[in-house]
Amino acid sequence: MIFNKEIECMSRKNMEQLQLKRLQNIVYYCYEKVPFYKAKFDAVNLKPKDIKELKDIEKIPFTTKEDLRDNYPFDMFAVPMKEIVETHASSGTTGKPVVVGYTKNDLETWSEAVARLAAAAGVTSEDVAQVAFGYGMFTGGFGLHYGLQKLGATVIPASAGNSERQLMYMQDFKTTVLISTPSYALYLSEICEDMGIDPKSLSLKIGLFGGEGHSDELTKEVEKRWGIIDTENYGMTEITGPGVSGECTHKTGMHICEDLFYPEIIDSTTEKQLPIGEKGEMVLTTLVKEGIPMLRFRTKDITILDDKPCQCGRTSIRMHKIFGRSDDMLIIKGVNVFPSQIESVLMKFDKIAPHYQILLKSHGFMDTIEVLVEVENGDILDSYRKLEQLEKDIRHEIRTVLQIDATIKLVEPKTLERTEGKSKRVVDMRNKKQY
Ligand code: ADP
Ligand code: ZN
Repeated sequence: MIFNKEIECMSRKNMEQLQLKRLQNIVYYCYEKVPFYKAKFDAVNLKPKDIKELKDIEKIPFTTKEDLRDNYPFDMFAVPMKEIVETHASSGTTGKPVVVGYTKNDLETWSEAVARLAAAAGVTSEDVAQVAFGYGMFTGGFGLHYGLQKLGATVIPASAGNSERQLMYMQDFKTTVLISTPSYALYLSEICEDMGIDPKSLSLKIGLFGGEGHSDELTKEVEKRWGIIDTENYGMTEITGPGVSGECTHKTGMHICEDLFYPEIIDSTTEKQLPIGEKGEMVLTTLVKEGIPMLRFRTKDITILDDKPCQCGRTSIRMHKIFGRSDDMLIIKGVNVFPSQIESVLMKFDKIAPHYQILLKSHGFMDTIEVLVEVENGDILDSYRKLEQLEKDIRHEIRTVLQIDATIKLVEPKTLERTEGKSKRVVDMRNKKQY
C-alpha cells in the first residue's frame, strides 16, 4: 500500500517545483526566526531571495552537530517554547546531547513520514506492531509509535529491553511486526531459541529495523531465523528521528520522503555537491519543519542516491544502505574500510555466528586491527587444527576483499556483548599508545 500516493508517486518535475517552493519558504523562515541562521547567511552575504532555484541550495552554509551542541538546549528553535509540544534528544555519548523540539504540525509530519515507510514495508492497519525501541528521549520509540498508529496498526509500546517479556508479548499478542535495531532482532532470535521456541513459529511477518546499519548478509540471516521480511529504515534526531527514508518490499534502497527532507550528497573533504550515483556524505534540509528547522545538516553518513524507477511505483529518490559514518571509517595502514564491509565478509562464513567486534590497537606507530568473531558451535574450539584453518580462511578473505591485514580471534558462542539498542562493533584501544 502506498500511504500518500499523490506525493510518493509525484512526477519529478512536480516534486522539484514543490521542493523549491518549500525550500524558499524555509529559508525565509530560518533567516527571520533563528539568529544562528541569520548570522550564517550574513557572514557569506547571502539573502533568502538569492535562493531562486534548487541548485542555489549550495550557497547555503552547512549546519553541523557541533552547531546544535553550541546552541544547547533551545537556541536553534524557531518558535517560542509554548508552541513546542514535545522534545527529544540524541544519545550524546560525547558531551552535551543534541536537543530538538516538535510543534503540533511537526508531530503530524513525523507521523506521516513514518507511516509512509511502514506502509512501504508492507504494514497495514491489520498488523500488530511491537515497538522494541526505547521510549524516552531517544526518537526511535515515539517516532515509530506515532507513525504506526497513524497507519492504523495496533501498537504494543513494549519499549527496549526485557527480552523474555518481549517474546511473551510476541507469542500472546500475536505480534506481526517487530520494530528494533537489527542487532537486537538477531539477539532476540537467539533468546527465543534458548527458550526452546522456534522463532519461525511465531506470527511475526515484517521487521522494521533501523537506528544502525546492517549488511545484506546480516539481513538474510535475520530473515532466515525469523522467517520474515527484514526492511530497513533510516533517520536521525536532528532531522526528525526515524522517518527520513525506508525500504519498500522490492528492497532497492530506502525511499526518501523528499517533499519533507531534501537530500544532497557531498564530498566530505571538498564539501562540493556530487552528482546522483556518486558515493559521499548525505546532507539533509528539512523543508517544512517548524520547531527546529535544519538547513543543509551534515549527517556524516555515507551513501549513494539512486533515481532509477522502482517497481513499487514510488518515484522518490532512494538512498543506498549507509556504508558507515564518515567519522567511523577505519584507516588501517592507509587503507580505508568501514566496519560494515568487514561484516559483509564475515557473514560469508557459515561456521561463525553473526556476532563480532572489531578492536583497533596500536603497535608501535602502526595501527592494527583484531576481529573477534563468535563461532556458531563451540565444538570447533576443541580442534586446534580446524580453528586455525578457519581463522586463516577468514583472514585471507578479508585480505583479498578489503586489502587489510586483520588478526582473527574466534571466540566461544554467546560471549560477545549483546545490546538492546544500537550495537557497539568497534572498540578503539589506540589511545593507549605503547611507544
Ligand atoms: P546518535 O548520533 O546519538 O546515534 P540518533 O539516535 O539520532 O543519534 O542516530 C542517528 C544516526 O544513526 C544516523 O546519523 C546514522 O548514523 C545512524 N542510523 C540510523 N539509521 C540507520 C540505518 N538504517 N543504517 C545505518 N545507520 C543508521
Ligand atoms: Zn520501491
